[in-house]
Amino acid sequence: MKHLDVKGARIPALGFGTWQLSGRGCREAVRQALELGYRHIDTAQMYGNETEVGHAIRHSGLPRREIFLTTKVAPGNLAAAKVRSSTEESLRRLGLDQVDLLLIHWPSGEAPLAKTLAALATLREQGKTRFIGVSNFNVALLKQAVETLGADLLGNQVEYHPFLSQRAVMGALKRYGMMLTAYSPLGRGQVQRSPVLAAIGRKYDKSAAQVALRWLIDQDHVAAIPKAASAAHTASNLDIFDFTLSAEDRAAIDVLRGNLRVVDPGWGPAWDPP
Ligand code: NAP
Repeated sequence: MKHLDVKGARIPALGFGTWQLSGRGCREAVRQALELGYRHIDTAQMYGNETEVGHAIRHSGLPRREIFLTTKVAPGNLAAAKVRSSTEESLRRLGLDQVDLLLIHWPSGEAPLAKTLAALATLREQGKTRFIGVSNFNVALLKQAVETLGADLLGNQVEYHPFLSQRAVMGALKRYGMMLTAYSPLGRGQVQRSPVLAAIGRKYDKSAAQVALRWLIDQDHVAAIPKAASAAHTASNLDIFDFTLSAEDRAAIDVLRGNLRVVDPGWGPAWDPP
């Protein structure tokens, strides 16, 4: 496993996403992921599965400190008092006294960002989370959070895969020494349909999905969190550390970069141009 060292955190570059996993299926998928060797798990208040994720972690037999766990405060909980109370509820559901990373899930025009960030920082001081960060922030919001409000953020979790250029966000994160966590790293199925990625994969006996994940985590300060319900996908997404993409392969993948968003809800911010 490759690790990222960012602001004193050590984060496994490949994590396990849990959006749309629920109930017993979620518990089993996370249990399996941990058994296979994943040590970075992504959940959120909005996913409705913190109870199952926490159960799988607590029953894994692994020391808690070996697992990097992220959860996210839902957009309706960004007023300072709600940040506090909803995070405490998250911890209760997880059955844990601390998460590793607590994110603002989506920016919201309703709660003042300064107050939300201050509430997150207080939770960090209280040890309820080791690090804080954001998700779905564009460059302007990152600038406001870091430069104007002085927030010390570990990273920004955004959609990122070979068909979506994140050059602008990536540039800002690099300037601020922050990491990028790539969500929907498989483009929710798009990657698997790419003839270019499949052809590169054939050279190494790897799938298009494996090529995309390797391309992502080879980038500086980038982690990826593919979701898989099936054990076969969970295992194959982790099996990406025994081959190396050539400069020529990387150049061929760079050409695919465009503006394909698979997650684009009406409440999202104005995305940066590709
Ligand atoms: P994704 O990981 O890009 O794609 C998941 C889909 O790909 C599932 O249908 C899965 O099938 C399939 N898949 C997984 N591994 C595969 C493989 N090796 N070959 C072929 N197909 C494969 O999409 P995602 O769930 O949207 O994103 C991943 C995680 O990012 C989420 O679970 C969540 O934790 C996080 N996320 C965060 C945000 C945010 O706003 N911060 C938004 C979206 C996602 P099976 O499930 O059938 O195995």
